[in-house]
Amino acid sequence: MKEKLLLIPGPSPVHPRIIHSLALPTVSHVGPEMVEELPKALENLRKIVFCERGEAFIIAGAGTLAMEMALLNTVAPGEKALILSQGYFGSRMAEIGRVFGLDCELLESPWGTAVAPEELEKKLAGSDFRVVAATHVDTATGTCAPIRDYAEILKKREAVFIVDGVCATGGIEERMDDWGIDVVLTAAQKCFGVPPGLAILVLSERAMEKRKKMPPLPAYYSDLLRWLPIMKDPAKYFSTPCVNEVRAFTESTLIILEEGLENRFVRHAKMARALRSGLEALGFTFFTQKEFLAATLSVINYPSGVEDKRFRSLYYENGVVVAGGLAQTAGKVFRMGHMGNLSPSQVYFALDALEQSLKTIGFDFSQGAGRRAAREILGD
Ligand code: PMP
Repeated sequence: MKEKLLLIPGPSPVHPRIIHSLALPTVSHVGPEMVEELPKALENLRKIVFCERGEAFIIAGAGTLAMEMALLNTVAPGEKALILSQGYFGSRMAEIGRVFGLDCELLESPWGTAVAPEELEKKLAGSDFRVVAATHVDTATGTCAPIRDYAEILKKREAVFIVDGVCATGGIEERMDDWGIDVVLTAAQKCFGVPPGLAILVLSERAMEKRKKMPPLPAYYSDLLRWLPIMKDPAKYFSTPCVNEVRAFTESTLIILEEGLENRFVRHAKMARALRSGLEALGFTFFTQKEFLAATLSVINYPSGVEDKRFRSLYYENGVVVAGGLAQTAGKVFRMGHMGNLSPSQVYFALDALEQSLKTIGFDFSQGAGRRAAREILGD
């Protein structure tokens, strides 16, 4: 198998340290290794989302399970939830709620933009939403929502604020305590750079208090109160955690904390700027409006003369995997993830392979322009 650089919007490339941790022998899920490992992972996770108190959960599953758990454990029967959507995943959140008979209303923005804070404020006036959920970065549209501004508006109210950080947590700042976020849900395979397989949640003290007051849930595996004793003491059993994945996740949190959170957020923004500058120099434009561009992925319009399937298959042959557009953007854009532990040399490789692919297509561009533009930003 030829090695490829995985630049889809997750899973992202897996650092050798994380691969190594996955290769260690499987241990008992209730044994001393996990009793030591899981609390470490949970503590580091809370540091990454700036949550001093509150409870963290790491559970076998994926981002969609984390979405389901977040809703089910905070929206009580009869309560109304408002879901902000700037693309695909907000709509999924509302769909999940409806499957469980929860009263979920969608507030959508046109693709390429996010819901304006003023719109949220207007929507909340005179209403009694008890939960508000927002996607931090929508992976279909590449839009980064103004989460901090939403949180500021919600601070004055009682509503629990859920943030879907699947495409952001660990790569873009999310300060739970300071900003007033009650739930961050995420998954392993994006900014943490761990293979897929974990549903990850952090709940504020306020969200946990609410959960404890709720009637029994119409769920078993998704009930966080069934998981809480295991998070406190992994020697107890509820359902077998994926121990190798937990160890890999701990390793990813160590990499993140060694880099330093501020440095990591700055690096994500810098890699994004370098890649986008290189893409622009080669003649590409972006689907997402400028003020909403995300540090973790780009949604890139095809110029005329570049056909989706041919381009992506050539790019693949040249060593880089990117994703096609979703729903209304299918065939019109490609999506490139730039999250996790991406290095400048990987950025250069991606741009060089892009040029190689464009050359085969016969697309007109200035040779070496991508790398030159990226170098101006990366400076090495
Ligand atoms: N939310 C967002 C923002 C996502 O990008 C994704 C996955 N692309 C999900 C939720 C769902 O995660 P998963 O595919 O791991 O279930």
